Amino acid sequence: MAIHIDTVTKQFGPLRVVNGVSVDIKDGEFFCMLGPSGCGKTTTLRMVAGLELPTSGRISINGADMTYAEPRHRDIAMAFQDYGLYPNMTVFKNIEFPLKIRKFDEASRRRKVEETAEKLGLHEYLQRKPSQLSGGQRQRVSLARALVRNPKVFLMDEPLSNLDAKLRAVMRTEIKKLVTNLGITTIYVTHDQIEAMAMADRIAVMSKGNMVQIASPLEVYDRPKTRFVAEFIGSPPMNLFSAQLKPGTAVTCVIPGFAHSLTEDERAFASQVVDAKGGLLLGIRPEHLMVTAPGKQGATDALVELVEPLGQTTNIYVSVGDIRFVIVTDRTQVKAGDTIGVVAPSELLRVVANDDAVVRH
Ligand code: ATP
Repeated sequence: MAIHIDTVTKQFGPLRVVNGVSVDIKDGEFFCMLGPSGCGKTTTLRMVAGLELPTSGRISINGADMTYAEPRHRDIAMAFQDYGLYPNMTVFKNIEFPLKIRKFDEASRRRKVEETAEKLGLHEYLQRKPSQLSGGQRQRVSLARALVRNPKVFLMDEPLSNLDAKLRAVMRTEIKKLVTNLGITTIYVTHDQIEAMAMADRIAVMSKGNMVQIASPLEVYDRPKTRFVAEFIGSPPMNLFSAQLKPGTAVTCVIPGFAHSLTEDERAFASQVVDAKGGLLLGIRPEHLMVTAPGKQGATDALVELVEPLGQTTNIYVSVGDIRFVIVTDRTQVKAGDTIGVVAPSELLRVVANDDAVVRH
């Protein structure tokens, strides 16, 4: 089922926590809302569920206006970070509960619970109480209870945040496989960029009640539109440098050697987001910078301040005058105090807007 969110705002008293967000979520899409604590993700999700009413704007599901519809009329299932399991019921009864409310007969309840438990690897735990399960197993019960009645829309709010890192990685693959196979339209809220990158068909990066950028994970990574997105996604984050828009295709960077000429699309974007003084940002991912010997033509000399060998990769923190940035490379002999040459390939430099620029999708 497609979900259409149209200029939705939410105000709590004088505080506007969702600021006119619009997005069309496609049938069967896995859509992530990603952003820091307090950016309005949960409130947006709760408005789709009908647990909170918008102050203005409209929400439709499968073409029908659901802005003010009761949650039970929306054919939506939800899973939250605290699982919300009933402690006194067995796993079987927990999973069965939504079917009982909907007055399914006993035989079909049993069949559906068993099928769902099988899919989620819970069969052997059906007679246990939630307190007798591990965090990951409880998580799966919570998912099973949400999925047992074949919802058309699945809303998840940080469902993995109580799990340890290893289990999170396993569960995110499981969830993605499960909902993709079932073809359920899913909205997934997280503050974890890795989770969003790994799971989403599209990500909405949210900040201060706005969806700042809505795009596929790689598009968001490769072409972040604003400083906030560039710095929120990627670890270490994208390097950003002050730049000046010049006539034609030219843009000058605060590091003169990092030269870039604008493509037609970039020119159009840059002219939209540039400030009154012609200022904007040029960004480059740390792994796109190349290290060479100092003094080479086309390279900029930089002083190495710190080297972090992480095993798989190495972070080299450098400075050019008082401008600091980071390079990610393979293992290296470079050490603090060395001077190295740094090359920023022109085609990998990106135009990025300052956060106060108005960015249109
Ligand atoms: P988190 O990841 O911490 O859950 P979030 O992005 O999901 O954050 P929301 O829960 O949507 O953020 O909250 C957005 C803002 O709205 C926060 O500043 C929060 O304090 C505020 N808020 C949420 N619910 C209410 C409420 N019922 N009354 C007043 N303010 C609220």
